[in-house]
Amino acid sequence: MYYYGIDIGGTTIKCGLIKSGGQIITKDEITTRKEDNGKYILEDITKYIRKNNKNLGIKDEEIEAIGLGVPGSVLDNGVVNKCINLGWGVFNVVEEFENLLHIKTRVGNDANMAALGEYWLGSAKEFSSMVFITVGTGVGGGIIIDGKPVNGFNGAACEIGHLPIVTEDMGECNCGKKDCLEIVASATGIVRVAKKMLAEKGNNSTLKRIENLTAKDVFDEAKKGDLLSIMIVDYVTDYLGRGLAIAAGMIDPEVFVIGGGVSKAGDYFIDKIRESYKKYVFHPSKYTNIMQAKLLNDAGMYGCAYLAGCR
Ligand SMILES: [Zn+2]
Repeated sequence: MYYYGIDIGGTTIKCGLIKSGGQIITKDEITTRKEDNGKYILEDITKYIRKNNKNLGIKDEEIEAIGLGVPGSVLDNGVVNKCINLGWGVFNVVEEFENLLHIKTRVGNDANMAALGEYWLGSAKEFSSMVFITVGTGVGGGIIIDGKPVNGFNGAACEIGHLPIVTEDMGECNCGKKDCLEIVASATGIVRVAKKMLAEKGNNSTLKRIENLTAKDVFDEAKKGDLLSIMIVDYVTDYLGRGLAIAAGMIDPEVFVIGGGVSKAGDYFIDKIRESYKKYVFHPSKYTNIMQAKLLNDAGMYGCAYLAGCR
């Protein structure tokens, strides 16, 4: 049996045709056309699937189901509650997509789908409950319990990036609040912290010589021993560890998996989060596994296929 896992992002849509068992048959990226409030996006996916099936000689009936991942809140009935990055308002994606292609469809939040991918075939493969944190442009997350993503009543479960925990004045979050974890712990947040600390006490830092500073630069310099960079990493991971400790206090998962672009900083990053987590968490959860994600960019695609029923 075949499934499509379609991970819809703000710039590209990752499309995977996946066979039962998890084997990828084809993997492509198409551009996300956001004009006219993103009204061409579902049509473009439909066209892609028709063309891909034709190229491979696969009939529509051989596609068991399709899973879509979208960057926004999703309710259990398939209604998306505004995907700002796509220009979408509130509507039932499942209904609309099934009307176009007439194949059973499921929809989930993109971070939840990445979590599900890691749960199925990645770092959390051996575990039954997990909390996934993605540290990239923003900070997102997904909760999986017994193979099911937890959406929450408002579709906002595990929005760990918007936990109100930052006490210093570090500017405003995209959501309008001023205390969100994401303000300091996303890739852009890390650069924000770096610039602030550089201005205050960065005279001897090697970061000073770098133009167009990125989060990766901060980690690279910290690994080389630059004291200010280490301070920045410590500050950021202290907050991330605190965020995980809060999640543990509510969910107490078997494993935390850290993904997203910043997670490429590897063990250095994960070890620091672990250190901070231990400091803040309630003692029974102290030794919960914290692991780096494995599937990276493909996690969402796999998760979407899993949501559609692929096993
Ligand atoms: Zn926020």
